[in-house]
Amino acid sequence: MTKRIAIIGAGPSGLAQLRAFESARKAGVRNIPEIVCYEKQADWGGMWNYTWRTGLDKYGEPVHGSMYRYLWSNGPKECLEFADYSFEEHFGQQIPSYPPREVLLDYIMGRVERSNVRQYIRFNTPVRWVQWCPDSRKFSVTVMDHEHDQLETEQFDHVIVASGHFSTPNVPYFQGVENFQGRVLHAHDFRDACEFRDKRLLLVGSSYSAEDIGTQCFKYGARSITFSYRSAPMGHDWPEGFRERPLLTRVDGNVAHFKDGSSEEIDAIVLCTGYQHHFPFLPDQLRLQTNNRMYPDGLYKGIVFQQQPELMYLGMQDQYFTFNMFDAQAWYLRDLIMGGIALPERQARAADIGRWRQLEAKLDGADDDIDFQAAYVRDLLAPTDYPRFDIDAQAALFKRWQADKRRDIMGYRNQCYRSVLTGSKAPPLARPWMEIMDDSLASFRRLHMADPENKSRARAARKAGAGGRSRSADANRAAAPQPA
Ligand code: FAD
Ligand code: NAP
Ligand code: MG
Repeated sequence: MTKRIAIIGAGPSGLAQLRAFESARKAGVRNIPEIVCYEKQADWGGMWNYTWRTGLDKYGEPVHGSMYRYLWSNGPKECLEFADYSFEEHFGQQIPSYPPREVLLDYIMGRVERSNVRQYIRFNTPVRWVQWCPDSRKFSVTVMDHEHDQLETEQFDHVIVASGHFSTPNVPYFQGVENFQGRVLHAHDFRDACEFRDKRLLLVGSSYSAEDIGTQCFKYGARSITFSYRSAPMGHDWPEGFRERPLLTRVDGNVAHFKDGSSEEIDAIVLCTGYQHHFPFLPDQLRLQTNNRMYPDGLYKGIVFQQQPELMYLGMQDQYFTFNMFDAQAWYLRDLIMGGIALPERQARAADIGRWRQLEAKLDGADDDIDFQAAYVRDLLAPTDYPRFDIDAQAALFKRWQADKRRDIMGYRNQCYRSVLTGSKAPPLARPWMEIMDDSLASFRRLHMADPENKSRARAARKAGAGGRSRSADANRAAAPQPA
């Protein structure tokens, strides 16, 4: 009997899983499971699929997207390159190391368009509930098909949760915030830096969202940026106009008070306080419970749910490696499901989890995290046929990225790195990142590609041939109005 598999989510993780099975099919492997991928959004790409909406979508579902206008990759693209699909293969040439969101979305879509996997995805179909039935040894998966406005239930041998974990905001309360006169929002709802032009902005949090939204708002004209940290300041060499203060203790009118007794007037507050792993479609026995960390507990190889190994999770780690780590996980899961890799007994799995968790407990700083995640990716890839790539060289690039940020937080995106796949070095951005205000794919092509028009046409033709509608054309239109 052919196995049936449900994948929840068509973001980079879920798409990696579709691609993994498809590459086996192309290699002539038989008995590929029957796959249904449920996606609650109208299109694929997950987080990379920009939406202007906040709150609830048109069906009343929580909006997934946390990305915003003018978002540029915060890590070098050389660190997330798919080993079976280089940037040069996709764009027909090498491109700068830090592309904007829409360029990365185009790259993610390019690989799946070529592998013809769109047919497996049910769009506008959020998963509502998953249940394990011990008698049939199958999952029963209930989904809401918004296109036909009906609930449906189907049975599956495996469920792969690839629903992401940067969507449900963690929103702490600060005394007095309910009386604050300005706008208060979580990073999840942040969309456009121009809204904060001339404003004195307070960002609570000291991780990537705070750093990126703060620098971006400054780029688009905010008057000043104050970061408030709970554990430790970011400690970058900030330009004038930035400051870091300890934790916000209360808000009084338009004055923010901090733990060290200092205070200042502010016009708006962005809570960059992270996200929750949130799975409202899973009962307690199947639900991963973790904070954002390098090795969530209870997942064998970081992917197989220990309590019920027919259930799997992709991309639940805190992320340095992203797209190629999801690939490593997806290829491993594919082979596990198809029998090429054996699943050890419960105790052996627990011992393996324990070993990784012990290593995780000893991590001390970013360089350690990077080496740890590199070792994790290497461990997953060893038994698979995913194309080999130089993981150590990528880890070295991540460390260089960290150092480049420490040297110049406003200018690190002007750096160029060498692809570990093709060996070629990225060209520089056409202008310093601080001066490029238009983040659209069309503008990026005009600035950085030899023959932007022809390639766009070729790609559109390819898309039409694959039966998919041209998402980037829509996105181009959405991104059309640009600040001066
Ligand atoms: P997601 O991309 O979140 O995709 C999950 C998918 O599951 C979505 O399409 C969602 O609609 C769907 N889904 C959720 N619930 C359900 C349900 N119940 N039923 C059906 N479908 C469901 N990474 C980088 O490498 N570089 C960056 O520069 C970068 N920038 C980032 C910026 C921001 C603001 C954020 C929040 C993240 C950023 N990331 C970045 C990390 C990013 O999360 C990953 O790159 C990647 O998107 C994770 O892929 P995923 O498929 O695991 O999750
Ligand atoms: P995160 O990395 O999990 O960081 C959460 C931050 O919130 C930490 O600084 C944490 O402080 C703080 N925090 C949590 N609870 C708090 C509380 N009660 N009071 C005060 N502070 C609190 O989340 P993130 O920064 O949102 O990043 C999420 C993901 O988005 C990352 O993968 C990142 O790479 C990605 N991202 C990328 C870009 C980009 O590419 N341009 C931009 C933004 C985000 P402690 O240190 O004290 O725990
Ligand atoms: Mg996904």
